[in-house]
Amino acid sequence: MAPQARDRVCDVNFTTWGRTYRASPARWSQPRDEAELRAVVARAAADGLRIRAVGAGHSFTDVAVTDGLLIGLDRLSGARSVRRRPDGTALVTVGAGTRLHELNRLLATRGLAMRNLGDIDRQSVAGAISTGTHGTGALLGGLATQVRALRVVLPDGSVRSVSGDDTPGSPDRELFEVARLGLGTVGVLSAVTLEVVPAYLLRSTEQVRPWDEVVEGIDALFDGHDRFDAYWFPGTDRMLTWSHDRVPAPEAARHRASRRGVLGAARTLGDAARSVLDEEVLANGVLGGVMQVAAAAPRTVPRLNAVCAAALGDRTHVAPSDRVMVSRRRVRFTEMEYALPRAGLADALRELEGWLRASGEPVPFPVEVRCAAADDVWLSTARGRDTAYVAVHQYHRMPRERYFAAAEEIFLAAGGRPHWGKLHTRTAADLAAHYPLDDVARVRAAVDPHGVLRNDYTDRVLGLPA
Ligand SMILES: Cc1cc2nc3c(=O)[nH]c(=O)nc-3n(C[C@H](O)[C@H](O)[C@H](O)COP(=O)(O)OP(=O)(O)OC[C@H]3O[C@@H](n4cnc5c(N)ncnc54)[C@H](O)[C@@H]3O)c2cc1C
Repeated sequence: MAPQARDRVCDVNFTTWGRTYRASPARWSQPRDEAELRAVVARAAADGLRIRAVGAGHSFTDVAVTDGLLIGLDRLSGARSVRRRPDGTALVTVGAGTRLHELNRLLATRGLAMRNLGDIDRQSVAGAISTGTHGTGALLGGLATQVRALRVVLPDGSVRSVSGDDTPGSPDRELFEVARLGLGTVGVLSAVTLEVVPAYLLRSTEQVRPWDEVVEGIDALFDGHDRFDAYWFPGTDRMLTWSHDRVPAPEAARHRASRRGVLGAARTLGDAARSVLDEEVLANGVLGGVMQVAAAAPRTVPRLNAVCAAALGDRTHVAPSDRVMVSRRRVRFTEMEYALPRAGLADALRELEGWLRASGEPVPFPVEVRCAAADDVWLSTARGRDTAYVAVHQYHRMPRERYFAAAEEIFLAAGGRPHWGKLHTRTAADLAAHYPLDDVARVRAAVDPHGVLRNDYTDRVLGLPA
């Protein structure tokens, strides 16, 4: 086992993207294949170390933190197999460490695409599904709902292949449930099989609208588009709305044809130039400067927000689905996001607006509003109910405590469930009302009787294995 097991005493300090947590694991390993992964896991468990896998470190919570063995999955990346189905969908198996941007590229070269994505593509597939990463869309589920099968390495070094087709109630099916969204508490995923769809184009329409109009009409906006997203700079009375709608096949064919040849290349370049302006200058470059001013002089925040909101404008464009859904986020922030029953969203937004106005809290980052369809994944934040997501952000160099505490109180009163990868204060005792935590504990105990896959965060939010 030793030569293949490329674990070593660790000189790696792990820090989350949002600079919220850091860890100094005793051991660090980047296995090159599943056999190596099995060996390093078994050895660490035998040595009495706790084990955590890490993807891109994009969770804001300490979910990936350990003082034991930290396993980076970057080398378990890329396509393993593609099985096409008669209806055009496909089952694509990738290494669990594949980053979403690599996944999107490898799907595009095969004429395929993810049914839905979040708003960035830097995460690993395993990390994204394990915390319930979601995008937006009233009829669309989060990434874990797109998982069909998994290969899971258990603490004893054995591997289990589990799938959504396993008999309901069977040990494999229950392991599948917790492995597809379970904070890495039932094993280290080595491969993930996703159901994907034929490549498609989205029309993105960005509009600046009055705040009241969006809040009052939010249900119609969610239901009226394939995907709907709203951003609001606190202290301003407008929202930027993004609606993304699938372009019908004949129009998509015309659009693709118009992108061929010299003229088409020029048009594509024109689109790219505009998106560089929007994404890099407005969304990231200018925003970075604005944040530095805000951190140095918080009193300027209301004026800065008014300037940012005024700089937003209406636009529409058509592009491949992943390029429409995904943006770059280069300005670091911290974030809390809650999943609310849709019916409670409008009142929660009004209360949040009232608190921000009354408190005068300087918040230069927008509030984001999204939605998802109800699903049946055990630990999904959208489990059993159509869901609206509200995310609050703060520049990482500015205090967030008062703002997030106030927002959390409002979201909890509305029946909210916290995103597993974003900051919150809930415990297993609070969350037991929302999730089948006893079943989760039973599945964990069966595969991890010595609690090797625990950490402080999983103890807090899931409790101990049964
Ligand atoms: C800028 C930014 C934008 C974001 N946008 C969205 C968004 O649009 N929607 C949304 O829902 N969330 C969003 N998030 C949150 C993010 O998607 C999640 O926190 C996600 O878990 C991060 O993926 P990761 O690869 O970085 O995982 P990590 O943070 O590294 O790990 C997350 C969890 O996955 C586990 N894990 C990782 N790899 C494995 C494996 N191979 N086997 C078992 N367990 C594993 C870890 O142990 C840990 O428990 C965003 C975060 C940031 C920083």
